[in-house]
Amino acid sequence: MSDGLGAPSGRRVVISREVAEVLGEAKVAELLAGPEPGEYDCVICDLPGDAEREDTSVLVRRFPVAEAPSRPLVNIIWAHAACSASTVEDRDTPISLTPYFRSQHLIPLLLGDDTAPRAALIMEPVMPALHNSTTDSNAYVQAWLREGLCLLSVGDLPHAGPDVPTWRAVLMPGDPPDQYRVTLTCRADGREPLTVADGLGIRVDRGWLDTAVTGGVTLWAGLTGLRTTAKRDPETVVRALADAAFAGTLVGGRITAVTLGLHDS
Ligand SMILES: [Zn+2]
Repeated sequence: MSDGLGAPSGRRVVISREVAEVLGEAKVAELLAGPEPGEYDCVICDLPGDAEREDTSVLVRRFPVAEAPSRPLVNIIWAHAACSASTVEDRDTPISLTPYFRSQHLIPLLLGDDTAPRAALIMEPVMPALHNSTTDSNAYVQAWLREGLCLLSVGDLPHAGPDVPTWRAVLMPGDPPDQYRVTLTCRADGREPLTVADGLGIRVDRGWLDTAVTGGVTLWAGLTGLRTTAKRDPETVVRALADAAFAGTLVGGRITAVTLGLHDS
């Protein structure tokens, strides 16, 4: 390979020099090793691709950020090598981060046993591949840490997590009536409260709600891949959380939960 970096083993991931310069060594090594990109939809032709079987280009789109012009965001996407070379494309239109941070997927879980139940929420961005190009780490993880969530290790998973007093979950009746709306807000020192996830319906039973209100909610925020995982049995969930923790992309803590407009049962 004269002008690019090729993946070892059977993977067929093509990363050009200019893309490698933007992503940094660690990210390049990660993409070459996998599992991402694996199977994907090509951004050019929309047809499925598989980096294990066909030449796959890593493309970077760089966006100026309205809130922080000096720190552009990098979106990493995949295309068949036949459809596009591995290139960096600078977009002119600044994007605002706020809609991205408000666009979170929430998965409720009830853990523990009858005597010590624990309510949990897994939060995952709907559009996960946003990287901050100046620091080579994920923009969501950076923002969550900035807003007070704690970096979690695998050893933290069995526990409720460190208390995070600046965050809370507000649970309201949803539509249809067996759904609840969740708003997650965080209120860092001296700043306007930030609504992180809003208007999302989750389906939980009264037991989850009561547990959440009395014991708080364990919030796990990370790049777990669970949003697109169809079968979320407990083992799959724990493995995904552990993988994210190992990768340094799992943050969270125990937050308080309040209900609004719910009748007592
Ligand atoms: Zn294609």
